[in-house]
Amino acid sequence: MEKKAIQQTLVLIKPDGLKKSLTGNVLTRLSETKLDIVASKIVKVSRELAEEHYALLKDKPFFPDLIKYLMGEYHKKKVMALVYWGEDAIDKVRKICGATNPEEADSTSIRGAYGRITTKGVYENVIHASTNMEEAEREIKLWFQPDDIISDFYSSKVVKETVERRVWA
Ligand code: UDP
Ligand code: MG
Repeated sequence: MEKKAIQQTLVLIKPDGLKKSLTGNVLTRLSETKLDIVASKIVKVSRELAEEHYALLKDKPFFPDLIKYLMGEYHKKKVMALVYWGEDAIDKVRKICGATNPEEADSTSIRGAYGRITTKGVYENVIHASTNMEEAEREIKLWFQPDDIISDFYSSKVVKETVERRVWA
């Protein structure tokens, strides 16, 4: 039998998912995969981060609305970002997400069950998941720093820097 690759994948519960209180449902569905969660956080998404995340779609007509959607301008200004790790993680997670278009997604998938298409034509499909290993690496490094992740799958280095940062008062 062919051995399945150990992979990591970025998952975002998008602002419509948070607004509709779907976090628990989505995490429960994802737990069916038996994959490990190795990082998670709630993020207030800047325009810069949204545009970088969807950089490959910048020429699409729906790009400006997609950016507003990810920034939370139509729902709540937050996204839950997670990294799932384990055997065949990318395909396992994508399968539970369902097709990009929520009307075409299998009704038992997350997008099929909870997604919708807006009158502007944006697919509010609740969840993002990486589609291949290159995309996963680019996306995980965009949303997380090495110390945010409890597993060392990408090489990192220590640098000494003096930058201002906020600490507890
Ligand atoms: N999207 C959209 N209309 C389209 C295609 C995509 O609104 O015709 C949105 C949708 O929210 C989707 C995101 O843009 O999740 C990223 O598109 P991609 O083709 O990468 O789909 P995904 O990888 O999320 O399934
Ligand atoms: Mg994609």
